Amino acid sequence: MKQLRVLVDERSPEARQDALERAREQPTARLLLDQAVAPLRRLARRLAEDPDAAPLEELWPALDEAYAALDRYLGHLLERSGVTPRCGAGCPACCTAAPTILPIEGLRMARALRRRDDGQARLLRAAQQSSLFHALLQRALARSDADAREVYLETQLRWRARGMPCPALDDDGRCAAYESRPLACRAYVSVEEPARCLPSDPAFVGARRPLLWRSDAEARFEALLSELGDALELPRALNLLLALPRLFDHPALDA
Ligand code: SF4
Repeated sequence: MKQLRVLVDERSPEARQDALERAREQPTARLLLDQAVAPLRRLARRLAEDPDAAPLEELWPALDEAYAALDRYLGHLLERSGVTPRCGAGCPACCTAAPTILPIEGLRMARALRRRDDGQARLLRAAQQSSLFHALLQRALARSDADAREVYLETQLRWRARGMPCPALDDDGRCAAYESRPLACRAYVSVEEPARCLPSDPAFVGARRPLLWRSDAEARFEALLSELGDALELPRALNLLLALPRLFDHPALDA
């Protein structure tokens, strides 16, 4: 029987991050990121030329193209930096996190989930979780003098500790809308033991994760996604749970 060799990356978090920064600067990485940005820029230009013409027939294919290129970009960064995530299909350890989401990403997730036979059940789960999250956040805000963003981040951690599965998570630990998952899920990788992704693990908060997404050039991708959301006048929401119930009936989903 062949023995599996598990390669352990013994570099420090700083050394891994330096390797990622070097990979980001390479011409191939820049080219791949440009390929991700290009379809979004094309759409944004169309809207700038004619603000009344929301090019819905172009929206979904352009987003598919952009995110496929984004995955190639992120995969390239990992490969060139030698950072090997411990994440894998069927590991749902971080899928209790109420991931941050941009409005256009929320719309894309709503579309993916609504097309499923169990879409309504997932919407119901999202609506219940949304109310619970909202109540938790309001209570925390009322009790704390800290900055609202800090309170939100603490609430997000407390939410995660409850272990409620994301409305998109399947029973087998896979994402039911994997192709449409938001940037926050795509760029979240761990090189730690999967158990450390669970807030119940004592090492959870201290676990250092490689920052796969942080440069100004990458921010352009996000800025264009935001512009698209604004152009479609999509409601803003802080995370996927809060976004889904507000977007499930959006008219753009019928286009
Ligand atoms: S959208 Fe998918 S990948 Fe992201 S947290 Fe939910 S189930 Fe996990």
